[in-house]
Amino acid sequence: MLATLTFDDGNTFQYEELYPILEKYGLKATFYLVTGTISEEGRITWREVADLHKHRNEIGSHTHTHVNLTSISDEVLDFELRTSLNKLKLYNVETLAYPYGRFDQRVVRFTMKYYKAGRGTFTPSEFHTKTDKMFRFNLCSEEERYKLKAIDMEFTFPPRTPIMCFPTSKFKSIITEMLERNIHKDIWIIFTFHGLPTLKERSLLMPKKISGPNFLTSALRRIYGMYKGKRRIKDYKRKFDWLCERLNVLPIKTVTVSEAIRYLHERKAHNAQFLQR
Ligand SMILES: [Zn+2]
Repeated sequence: MLATLTFDDGNTFQYEELYPILEKYGLKATFYLVTGTISEEGRITWREVADLHKHRNEIGSHTHTHVNLTSISDEVLDFELRTSLNKLKLYNVETLAYPYGRFDQRVVRFTMKYYKAGRGTFTPSEFHTKTDKMFRFNLCSEEERYKLKAIDMEFTFPPRTPIMCFPTSKFKSIITEMLERNIHKDIWIIFTFHGLPTLKERSLLMPKKISGPNFLTSALRRIYGMYKGKRRIKDYKRKFDWLCERLNVLPIKTVTVSEAIRYLHERKAHNAQFLQR
C-alpha cells in the first residue's frame, strides 16, 4: 500500500501547524499551491515554499487563480496551467491538483502537455465500501494518472460531517479500519487537507471594537470565539499527528505524488522485464 498526504491552496495553517508534525515523523508531502495568491494574507509565503522544497516536500501546481478549469476557454486553460508552472520553475513541479477537483477530457488533454499527473478529489458516500475501488483506480494506466482520486478530509462525509470533525474515537476507528483492511493490498490512498484559519487569522475576523453598551457581550463573544478556535486547532492537530504516527509505524510507504508516479512507473517497467524473462 502506498499513501500520500496532499495539501491544497497553500494556507498558512499548513506550514505553521501541520508541516512541523510531518517533520516530526519524517514524512514528505505534496503542497498544491495557487501561484497567484502565494504570500498573500493567510497563504504560504515564497520563503516558506523554498523551505518546504528544501526539506524534500513536493511542490505542485493548483493553477494560477484557482478557477474551475472545466468552465474556461482553451486559451485561459492553457494560461492557468502554464503560468503556475513557470512561477514555480525553481521547484521542479511535476503534478497538478484540479481546483474544486473539477476536470474533464479537455482539461486532462491540456494537463498532459505540462504535467505528469492530475489529482482530483472525491467525497465517498459510503466510506467503507467505495474506497477500495477508488484507490485501486489510482494504480491504473498512464492516462488514469490524470484522474487521481483523493479523499477530501474536510468535506462532506455521511452524515455530512467532514472526517476531521468526527469525534476522535470515530475518526481513529474509521482510519484504522481503512488502513488495516488495505495494508497488504495493491492500493494507493491519497489524502487531501486544507486546514483551518490560524489563530491570528481568526482574531482578524473578530469584531475589533470592544466598547459601548454591549461591551461585556462583545468581549465575551471574542474570548469564547478564540477559545473555540484554539480548541478546534488543537483537536485537528491531534488527529493529524495521530494519522502521521500511524503512517510512520505501519508498513506503509508514504510518498509524495510524483514519487508514487515514479515508483509505479519503475515497477511497471520492472514487471514487464520480469515477464519477458
Ligand atoms: Zn483548492
